[in-house]
Amino acid sequence: MNTAELNVLLVDDEPLMLRIISRWLDGKVAGIRLAADGEQALRMIEAECPDVIITDWEMPRLNGLELCRAVRELDLPHYVYVFFLTARNSHEEIIAGLEAGANDFLAKPIHQGELIARLRAGTRVLELERRLSRLASTDPLTGIFTQRTFYEHLEKEWARARRFHLPLSCVMIDLDYFKRINDTHGHPAGDTVLRAFAELLRRHSRQSDIVCRYGGEEFCALLPETDEQQAGLWADRLRRALADHPIDIGDRCLTVTASFGAAQRYDDTTTAEQLVDLADQALLTAKRAGRDRVVRFAQLAGETDLESAESQEALFHGVLARHVMTPLVACVHQDEIVGQAADFLLRLRLSSSPVVDDDGKLVGILSDKDLMAAIVSLDSWQRPVREIMKPNVICYEEETPVRTIYEFLCRVSLRRVVIVSEGRPTGAISRGSLIRWFRNLLISRGLLADHESWQVADTEPKCARRRVAETSQELAELAARLAGAAAQSSEDIGPLVIGSATGMQSLVTDLLAYSRYVSGNSAGIGATSVDAGGISID
Ligand code: GH3
Ligand code: MG
Ligand code: MG
Ligand code: MG
Repeated sequence: MNTAELNVLLVDDEPLMLRIISRWLDGKVAGIRLAADGEQALRMIEAECPDVIITDWEMPRLNGLELCRAVRELDLPHYVYVFFLTARNSHEEIIAGLEAGANDFLAKPIHQGELIARLRAGTRVLELERRLSRLASTDPLTGIFTQRTFYEHLEKEWARARRFHLPLSCVMIDLDYFKRINDTHGHPAGDTVLRAFAELLRRHSRQSDIVCRYGGEEFCALLPETDEQQAGLWADRLRRALADHPIDIGDRCLTVTASFGAAQRYDDTTTAEQLVDLADQALLTAKRAGRDRVVRFAQLAGETDLESAESQEALFHGVLARHVMTPLVACVHQDEIVGQAADFLLRLRLSSSPVVDDDGKLVGILSDKDLMAAIVSLDSWQRPVREIMKPNVICYEEETPVRTIYEFLCRVSLRRVVIVSEGRPTGAISRGSLIRWFRNLLISRGLLADHESWQVADTEPKCARRRVAETSQELAELAARLAGAAAQSSEDIGPLVIGSATGMQSLVTDLLAYSRYVSGNSAGIGATSVDAGGISID
């Protein structure tokens, strides 16, 4: 980097000063922009980040000191070197300037030679700074971004895609049978292959794409303004380029292949991390399906064979989220402090809880993982819940067909979704809820008589009747135990009440599932309908 590459922003409320300095710099730097005060300068910096700012001290609206502080708070694409023009050159001024984040001072009256010399010194600092940040953000072996840098960019691209309703896709890549390359040709040969692939990836990407070495022999690409279809085509071109061009490892050339998973921003309820998660799910399918291929996330549903898709349709027909969900016992309020919330989760033996605002509307989710991060200081323990909760919650309306939720939970690593009614959380559906529901369905049809054997359909009513008897018995025992505890002890039985009530709630749900079958007029598995209030199906 030399001074001729610099973009300079001059800030001064004296038009004469601006004119003099820009004349001196004319032809010696790449570009000069002028601002009459700090406020205007700040707007110009946000629109396009300069390399160097030369600013006056005293100006109307925002002065130089305030401008400098504001610049250091901004999340700019690169470091900016800041000069102050000072008239007085007092120690106090220099200290205040340095503390605001200034790099150097130019005393008025300014000398052209000194200005250029100081600019050159500043350029050396900028050059070093850029080299360092490049080193910190890139993987030493391949020279492309590290996973950490990738996630920093992901946050920004995600926000941009969301704000402007633009498509955004992610492609996860894993080299096939890479371990064999190391084992057969040695680790240095493996390194050569990784470098060659990173180079290929870079050559196939646009300036705006963000590609990284995700870890080991995994790579990831973020493609802004690209939908999943286009991302799939891009990935397939890359796949063919790799497979068709053996990599030179010194004494021979190796044909290497890779598997690709592509996914686009799912909808507004998913988070940036979940986009990577979806691409990863697609990649896993590509691996299982035989490697050296691209799988798009949208294809996953289509990949289940027709028969199972049809039986799923029949199975889930008319079943809504509210039929399957586990009702919520209680929620955490966003203004409660973390310590109280932790106490709440512990007492109820919950691993997470929806968080609500004053109107009872869902604003986030608090999990034990968030609490773990808060176990560092008393300070964190006393922060309000809203500061540590995850604000993006996957939620579905009570009237959502359960099949939609089933398909979602099949694909992602998330275990549970929150069910809402007019924005207020009313329940949760986890993988466990769906498994329980399916088990109850089978039992109620007499298809699952006991743990060991499946029975034929003509014993359905008898079987359901036996389950009703057993379940009621369990319910009675739970209730009796709770009644006993409540009668005899004076200590806090809150957790016991909640625990027992939760257990009884599941048993009642089970009873509802059997209810239709004890009357004996049940139909086949194809004809399903839903009773209000429970999940009984016939
Ligand atoms: P699959 O097709 O299922 O992906 O099989 P694989 O062999 O590619 O996957 P596996 O995860 O079993 O092996 C990945 C290997 O990548 C193991 C690890 O030693 C190697 N590896 C990770 N980082 C590096 C590296 O920086 N250099 C080299 N040479 N090898 C690496
Ligand atoms: Mg001034
Ligand atoms: Mg791997
Ligand atoms: Mg691999």
